[in-house]
Amino acid sequence: MALAQLIYPHFGRNFILRHLRDGSSRLPIAAFLRNAERRRLVAAGSLPLAGLALLVALMLAGARNPAGHNPPPLDLTQTLRAATLAAAAGPQRIAVTVQRNDNIDRIFRKVGLEMDALAELRSRPEARRVLDLLRPGDIITLTHADGALLSLNRQISDTLTLSISRSGTGYAVSYVENPLETEVVGRRVRIDSSLFQAGKDAGMSAATIMTLATKMFAWDIDFALDIRDGDEFSALYERKVQDGKYVEDGKVLAAEFINQGETHRALWFASQDGKVEGYFTPEGRGMRKAFLRAPLDFTRISSGFNPHRRHPISGVIRAHKGVDYAAPTGTPIWAAGDGRVQFAGRKGGYGNVVIVDHGGGVTTVYGHMSRIGRGIRPGTPVEQGQTIGLVGMTGAATGPHLHYEYLVKGVYKNAAALPLMRNQVPDRYMAEFRRHASSTLARLGSGSSDDRLVASN
Ligand SMILES: [Zn+2]
Repeated sequence: MALAQLIYPHFGRNFILRHLRDGSSRLPIAAFLRNAERRRLVAAGSLPLAGLALLVALMLAGARNPAGHNPPPLDLTQTLRAATLAAAAGPQRIAVTVQRNDNIDRIFRKVGLEMDALAELRSRPEARRVLDLLRPGDIITLTHADGALLSLNRQISDTLTLSISRSGTGYAVSYVENPLETEVVGRRVRIDSSLFQAGKDAGMSAATIMTLATKMFAWDIDFALDIRDGDEFSALYERKVQDGKYVEDGKVLAAEFINQGETHRALWFASQDGKVEGYFTPEGRGMRKAFLRAPLDFTRISSGFNPHRRHPISGVIRAHKGVDYAAPTGTPIWAAGDGRVQFAGRKGGYGNVVIVDHGGGVTTVYGHMSRIGRGIRPGTPVEQGQTIGLVGMTGAATGPHLHYEYLVKGVYKNAAALPLMRNQVPDRYMAEFRRHASSTLARLGSGSSDDRLVASN
C-alpha cells in the first residue's frame, strides 16, 4: 500500500476527478511569484507537515527493524506513537507567528537558529524576497536539529507555499503549489423543515442556499410564505477542495425548485465574450424581474413552517388588502422593485409606512415598520432589494409583521398573478446559450437522490 494512500485515502480518487484551477496570488509579490512559477520549481500538491513527520517517523521506525525480520502489518496507532517518539528525540518543529516589527533575523535569533543558514538563504534572491516581506500574522514553520535549520515553510497565499529544505550542504528552495481544485456536485433535497435547514443538512453552504433563494428564484417563489413540506430542489454547484479537504462552495451552475408542484429552473450562463452573464430560465429569459416576490429578508424568519405563513394574519387592518409576513421585529424590509419613495411616515392603522412609486401607476406599500430606513423620504430613489425599513408592529398590529400591498393605479393586485417582465438572452447569443443550457441541464437532470460527483475536467 502506498503511504500517501494510507494517510489520504481519498487523495487518489478525488485527484483524478478534480479540475485543477489556477488560484493566483493577489499579493504585491504576485509578479515575482509568477516568475517563480514560470520557472516551474515544483508543481505537485504538498503533503502537509504532519504527513511528512509521519513519513520520517515511518522511515526511522523501519530503519530500527533488524534486517531480515518480517515487519508486522502497519497499525496506524502504533505509527502515530512512533511519530511522537521520533519527534521528541530528533528534530524540533516550531511554528512561529510573525509579530508586528518582526523580521526574519529576529525570528532566527528567537528560535536559536544558526545565522549562517540565514546568510545563505539571503544570497538566494528567490528566497530573500519572500523572507524579507513578512506580514504580522504570517506563520513560518521551521524544523531544526540543535539550531541547524532543516526546513522552513512559509505559506505565501492560499495556493502557494515557500518551501526550503536542507539538501546536502546547502538548501533547496522551491515553491509548492497547493491549488484549489473545483469539483462539481449535484444534490437533490426534499424540504421537510425549512429551505435553509434542508440545504444545510444536505451539506450545502449558507452562501449556496442564499444564491438559490435570492439570486435564482427570488422573483418566482415567495420564500417567506410559499414553501411547503414536500417541496424539493436540486442544485448543481461547485465545491472548492484543497489537499482533499473541503474549502468552500463555488458557483451554483443550475438548480430546479419544485414549489407546490410547480417547477422552476434556472442556470448560470456567461457568454464567451463576457457581455452576457447571469441566471436564466432554460428558454433564455432572465430570472431577475421587476418585482421580488417576498419584500423582506426571509432568511431572518425562523426555520420551520410558520403557521402564520400559511394563514396570514387577517383583520389586522380593516378591509384587509395585502399580504402579511410574520417576522421578528427588526427584520430588514426590502424595496420590491426599483422606484422612488412617494411617502415615508406615520399613517393611521399602517403605523410607520413607506410607499414606493415604481412608475406606470404601480406602487408598493410597506406597513407597521418599527423603523423607517435611514435617508428614506419622499423623492428618494430606491433599488430593488434595498432595505427601506425594519419590521415592527406600529399602527393597528397585534404582533410584529410586514403588511405589504401591491397597487396598480391605486387598486390592490395579487402580486403573484401579475405578469412581470423579464429580460432575455439577446438573439445573437441564443445558439451559444442553447448549447450551454442543454449540457448543463442534462447534468442537473441526471439526478439521483444522493450526494454525487457529477463531473470534473
Ligand atoms: Zn396586513
